[in-house]
Amino acid sequence: MQSHRSVKEEIKQVADIVQAIGQFVQLKKAGRNFTGLCPFHAEKDPSFNVSPDRQMFHCFGCKKGGDIFAFWMEYHGLTFPEALKDLADRYNVQIPDRFSPSEEKKRSRLRETLLKINESAAQYFQRALTKGGRGNPAADYLKKRGITGDIISEFRLGWAPDSWDGITGYLRRQDTDMERAAKAGLIVNRKGGGYYDRFRGRIMFPIINLRGQVVGFGGRVLDDSLPKYLNTPETPVFHKGEFPYGLNASFRAIREKGTAVIVEGYMDLLALRRHGLDQVVATLGTALTPQHIRRIKGYAREALVVFDSDEAGIEAALRSLPLFLNEGLPARAVVLPEGHDPDSFVNREGLPRFMELLNRASPMFDFFLEQKLSRSGTDIEEKVRVLKEILPALSQLHNEAQRTLYAGRVSERIGIKEEVVLSELNSFRRNRSENTLERNLKGRVGRTETDKKIGDIQLLNLLVHHPGTVEALRDSGCGALISNRTVSKAVAYIFHKQEENGPVSLEGLVGDVEDEDVRIQLREVMLAESIYPEQEVDQAVMEIMEKARQKRLSDSVKEIRDDPEALNDLLLKLRDRNRC
Ligand SMILES: [Zn+2]
Repeated sequence: MQSHRSVKEEIKQVADIVQAIGQFVQLKKAGRNFTGLCPFHAEKDPSFNVSPDRQMFHCFGCKKGGDIFAFWMEYHGLTFPEALKDLADRYNVQIPDRFSPSEEKKRSRLRETLLKINESAAQYFQRALTKGGRGNPAADYLKKRGITGDIISEFRLGWAPDSWDGITGYLRRQDTDMERAAKAGLIVNRKGGGYYDRFRGRIMFPIINLRGQVVGFGGRVLDDSLPKYLNTPETPVFHKGEFPYGLNASFRAIREKGTAVIVEGYMDLLALRRHGLDQVVATLGTALTPQHIRRIKGYAREALVVFDSDEAGIEAALRSLPLFLNEGLPARAVVLPEGHDPDSFVNREGLPRFMELLNRASPMFDFFLEQKLSRSGTDIEEKVRVLKEILPALSQLHNEAQRTLYAGRVSERIGIKEEVVLSELNSFRRNRSENTLERNLKGRVGRTETDKKIGDIQLLNLLVHHPGTVEALRDSGCGALISNRTVSKAVAYIFHKQEENGPVSLEGLVGDVEDEDVRIQLREVMLAESIYPEQEVDQAVMEIMEKARQKRLSDSVKEIRDDPEALNDLLLKLRDRNRC
């Protein structure tokens, strides 16, 4: 019978990790590897590496890494069996049966059930929208707002009738496990027992993930009653702020155009789509989150964020600047004329006028600066306060010319001398960069001349990139030369595997290493370039063997220093050796 492991191997044979990850992260070729901005932590410079040779990924920043399964689990928030099933479906590999530990199995079963219930609910809401034709308040509402049938079916819009027992009755008739349906957030436990509908009298927007599954719903009222939006609560399959609404429908257009237009509401998104702007996502009525931006930057080179011109809208824009700077995604702020949202604007003025607004949008930083300045007073304390607020944002600009330019602008606008702004800025940056430098030194494996002096990493690099040396060095005692404990364990692991199985290829084995630090260490060395070119390998091996010999010798000298007889023996031995 086919085992779990062989299914995994089969998927690895047919799936290409660069292509698989490339769907979600913009990757650029860099030497033998591909690099991109890490989807798992905030960063401005790419430290996320994918190796086609090794079929593995590794982030030198947050240390996440592994094979295609590790990526799938981390990115989509799945258990191993779920990732296995997902990838098996995707690459047409048959899974005979499940072999997962029971806890994981339980969790993934629960999620599978919730997704099924959501799917069934989505179909119920969709039918409720088309039922009754004219006179159906939701259908009339959408029609009045100009939302066409195409969009209704593409986004699977629906209607939750204004009833306490609509979806509840439907699910019961379907023999659904009602406790599970409550867990999915569709129905609510009644105090005296039983259940009632959570969404009543609302247009339903299924929230669909990048794998095409309905993970939750947003419901919007037809009138001005509150709350205007009601979302599925946190469930095992839905996490608020995890990804922007509409990304599943828009990511191709976003990738094609290179820009993502970010709006707040569902209706804003649909209105723009209706007018032919496809590269748009919505934040589900919540503030932008780092997760939103991390998802978007997998497809976009720039974000255009559309804000309302009211106080709350401006505040939201100001708060979003550090998020964009942290994630390294350039962004511009689009502020609509007073009293408008994207929906009302595009419907009244048309798409060309909306595009004009987009084209005129200022970079988020300029917007930030102007807003901060326009709100400040003129006395000295006020000026210093504004400068303090601006420095963190200013210091995050990549480009020195750009920083100097902005420093000049800040100086002009606040009326503080440019030298003063620049020197404040530099001292702010110095404090920060000391931390960064330290991080980089810890994380990266360089390849400079001085690195060739044989140390821990060099030895490990040699073993990994020139497997022929493993045999030669295994019995040399070179393990004693290593001072770093993690490297020492990694080297021991390689020797052990060689002893067990003969010449090893590490690709498949790294996943079996239990010690997380050792796994990370091995991945980093595997993704790093080889330090020694082929013609220097023999020399390096000799040097290591010689060093190991000396180390053995000096260790034994230490041991026998207090034992005159043994010392005498040793001296005789050394004399004999020097003679020949
Ligand atoms: Zn990372």
